[in-house]
Amino acid sequence: MKKLCILGATGSIGTQSLDVVSRQSDKFAVCGLTANSNINLLEQQIREFKPLKAAIADKALFKTLKNNVADCFTEILCGEDGVVEVASMNESDIVVSAIVGAAGLKPTLAAIEAKKDIALANKETMVTAGKLVCEKAKEKGIKILPVDSEHSAIFQCLMSGGKGENISRIILTCSGGPFFGKDRKFLEKVKPSDALKHPNWSMGQKITIDSATLMNKGLEFIEAKWLFDVPTDKIDILVHRQSVIHSMVEYTDGAVIAQLGEPDMRVPISVAINYPEREIIKEYKPFDFIKNSNLTFELPDEDTFKCLKLAKEAIAVGGTQPAYLNGANEMAVELFLKNKISFTDIGDIIEESIKKNIVIDDYNLEDVFNADKMARENVLSIYGGKL
Ligand code: NDP
Ligand code: MG
Repeated sequence: MKKLCILGATGSIGTQSLDVVSRQSDKFAVCGLTANSNINLLEQQIREFKPLKAAIADKALFKTLKNNVADCFTEILCGEDGVVEVASMNESDIVVSAIVGAAGLKPTLAAIEAKKDIALANKETMVTAGKLVCEKAKEKGIKILPVDSEHSAIFQCLMSGGKGENISRIILTCSGGPFFGKDRKFLEKVKPSDALKHPNWSMGQKITIDSATLMNKGLEFIEAKWLFDVPTDKIDILVHRQSVIHSMVEYTDGAVIAQLGEPDMRVPISVAINYPEREIIKEYKPFDFIKNSNLTFELPDEDTFKCLKLAKEAIAVGGTQPAYLNGANEMAVELFLKNKISFTDIGDIIEESIKKNIVIDDYNLEDVFNADKMARENVLSIYGGKL
């Protein structure tokens, strides 16, 4: 039995991870779960999966949750410390890191410190502190197994073609989001409800907005650099509207290895938590090539969707610049979701705010948190109001 902790269990990736686990109940046991505030769903999950520990990040909800599950043996913890305790608990073998945003960094680092393998969905961990995370993973001898579908695809391609000098480039595919082909005039009028409709994937709100602005692809560009230890000039991005090819690796002998499949996050989750094996699904349905015969490729428009360009620039600057970019983006997305700024303001405000960052090249964890905090404060001051 592999013992799993799921951080962000009540979210899109968290619930799909539990779905994969329940299909393989002979293989996995859940020993820890965490959520931010959704105590009703967390209670259901505690009753179904019977973890040893569960944590609710919002301290105000601790008592209610504890009372509601008083008949269960699960130990209930709270706050960031509680989440960190679940992330690093002795009993687990692998931690699914599926909290959204920079809030995932501390618990993920704690899990690595405790020598747990990581199934990494929380791309913000790599974006904000890629260097520190990779160094710590190396020091502790643990594996970081990508859950992000593109990175899982690359991981699977590399299993076949190998890693090293013979990689000519990594090709990250990108759905283009709901506004592909639209101009700035159109984007200025976009409402949160429009941006929350992704053509191919059903995901949490923050990543859905990031997919619409193409910031998601920018964050994935940075994530790929750290996960696969490749220079960024070897990472290309191609818009592929069908989201069937999840990413590719091209080798210097001219071979391109691609990973294909219907868009379903349970596949990369399963690849990560089952690694090095693969799940056997009895009701497995073969991929329909005829239905998917029209695969198209185009270049992204980085002038209209400037968030992608800003992310590429941030990793080129390096140091704390990506952490700053990420913090600024999280705040801008929150303001947009609350109808306080327009869709195009997201990129404009990040662009303006990032000029104020004082970059620290050789950074530590505290520098990352400071950059994140400064970014959020600067975005709020440019907006000129409160959340
Ligand atoms: P969701 O918003 O659906 O879920 C987020 C989870 O994190 C919830 O369990 C939430 O708890 C918890 N959470 C939120 N804030 C905090 C906090 N401050 N402290 C502790 N826990 C917190 O997000 P997704 O599942 O969509 O995304 C999770 C991560 O995976 C993101 O980094 C995203 O980029 C990445 N990812 C997601 C994909 C997807 O298909 N959804 C695809 C590829 C990557 P609660 O429910 O109580 O609010
Ligand atoms: Mg992705």
